[in-house]
Amino acid sequence: MSDKVKFQAIKGVRDILPPESALWNRVEQTAREVFGTFGFAEIRLPIFEQTDLFKRSIGIDTEVVSKEMYTIPDGDIEHIRGLRRSLLEWEIKFGDFGDAELFLGLAVTLLTFIRQAQEDGLTQFEDVGLHALGDLTVAAKELSDLISARGLSKDTDTWNRLISLVERIRLASDRLEIGEDMSLRPEATASVVRAYIEHGMQVMPGNVKLYYMGPMFRRERPQKGRYRQFYQIGAEVLGSSDAPGIDAEVIEMLMRLFERLKLKGAVLNINSIGDKNCRPAYVEKLRAELQKVRNELGADSQRRIETNPLRVLDSKLESEQGIIAKLPRIAEHLCADCRTHYDEVKRQLGLRGIAYQENWRLVRGLDYYMRTTFEITAPGLGSQNAVCGGGRYDGLVELLGGPAATKGIGFAIGTDRLVLSLQEAGEGETPGGPAGKAAGPDVYLAWFGAAAQSAAIGLARRLRDAGFVVELPAIEMKFGKSLGLADRLKARHAVIVGDDELAAGVVTVKRLSDGTQQKLGEQELFSYLRAI
Ligand code: ATP
Ligand code: MG
Repeated sequence: MSDKVKFQAIKGVRDILPPESALWNRVEQTAREVFGTFGFAEIRLPIFEQTDLFKRSIGIDTEVVSKEMYTIPDGDIEHIRGLRRSLLEWEIKFGDFGDAELFLGLAVTLLTFIRQAQEDGLTQFEDVGLHALGDLTVAAKELSDLISARGLSKDTDTWNRLISLVERIRLASDRLEIGEDMSLRPEATASVVRAYIEHGMQVMPGNVKLYYMGPMFRRERPQKGRYRQFYQIGAEVLGSSDAPGIDAEVIEMLMRLFERLKLKGAVLNINSIGDKNCRPAYVEKLRAELQKVRNELGADSQRRIETNPLRVLDSKLESEQGIIAKLPRIAEHLCADCRTHYDEVKRQLGLRGIAYQENWRLVRGLDYYMRTTFEITAPGLGSQNAVCGGGRYDGLVELLGGPAATKGIGFAIGTDRLVLSLQEAGEGETPGGPAGKAAGPDVYLAWFGAAAQSAAIGLARRLRDAGFVVELPAIEMKFGKSLGLADRLKARHAVIVGDDELAAGVVTVKRLSDGTQQKLGEQELFSYLRAI
């Protein structure tokens, strides 16, 4: 037996097939409609970005960045790193000009590679180091000529110049910040903010309201509702205002979407995690309390005492629940501004008739959040029950190099989980179309003979133009076989075109549910189909 190659999708990624894909389309279409009525417009973003963008925004100490990112090393970048390493480690041998010449040659090669990589738009280099290296390489060529003409011996001015030049080249290479690798995006807020800054969107009137949808990538342990390629529908509001009414309206928009999709049992959890004035003191207090119970905590939480104490509150570990319940709560440590903001968010939610639960343990996994955080859970998802997470991130625009006063808030819905929850609740799609609509094509157009095929092609086009779903066999089949296929495809009608029909200027229409049939002219056929 021959070994047949059998390919399978990579672990943690999956195909979304019909009819499930129709549910996905409905979810995405509904999001477009609902978000549109709130004045949001779509932004389409790249799927990969410089790794540094995610490191800076999400935070190096987060699980997402430290463990879950798919980073793509770039061949040339690796090569440039290698060359730089050689330059830094090179030992110039005394009196051996050949050796120095090799070193200088290497410096020139490095520069050439960097220029090429920059032209290819592969990455960005820190400019100062690059210019310095360029100037030094020119100097190196001059010195090299000088030595060829006059020779080289110890303690001469030329030798001293050489040594100082080598040192300066080393220093420049050391300072040369070689561009970051790129990573598949684990989330899209960083990209939206990057785009906001890059395109100077702060000059736009009012708040900038954007939504996006698409795949995200995290190397996590795959399980129900947790994939390595998953999808998010998200929205962000960026601008100069941090009015609590914005927070409440963003949440209102989410709840309207879930309502329109008939997602039942969604629960909104909210919290405030303070800002740079009050959170650091709270985090220190939390850290001190955690130190006292260190030995009772699991390994993950023990590590987080140092790296990210807030994340301990997020722990699902049974044995830690009693300990966590006794920890100091952020709500009791908010500064006056944060307290006022949080109270007003709650009042604004009340004005909109939105029910919520306060959850003091709700901290988000990404570093950039502050003040309002929220999460929405839905039934039918097991332990992966969060369908949406979001919050305020007022410092992020500045952190990524944008205008300092810019505020921001947003959320991301896990589309996979939303779809799963809808399916579990029986709000999914049936084969062939949305719930309620009969499966299969409206018309199966059976033709017999070359002349009939030509007539059928024309009729199929006119039927499709009128919005009917038409299945037109590509090859001629025997009558019984053709009608058998119509049945198996669950077509509602077979429209039959043969020589007799052509001669009489009619088609035979057979209703497949009960077998009744009649001969109709084209106008009558359209009226008949429309009436159903
Ligand atoms: P979780 O606590 O479930 O890991 P998270 O806090 O990492 O979620 P966010 O980064 O806030 O999630 O992303 C927002 C939403 O995206 C989540 O509420 C969830 O619905 C969805 N999501 C996150 N990671 C995955 C994944 N690996 N597979 C499927 N959906 C995901
Ligand atoms: Mg996660």
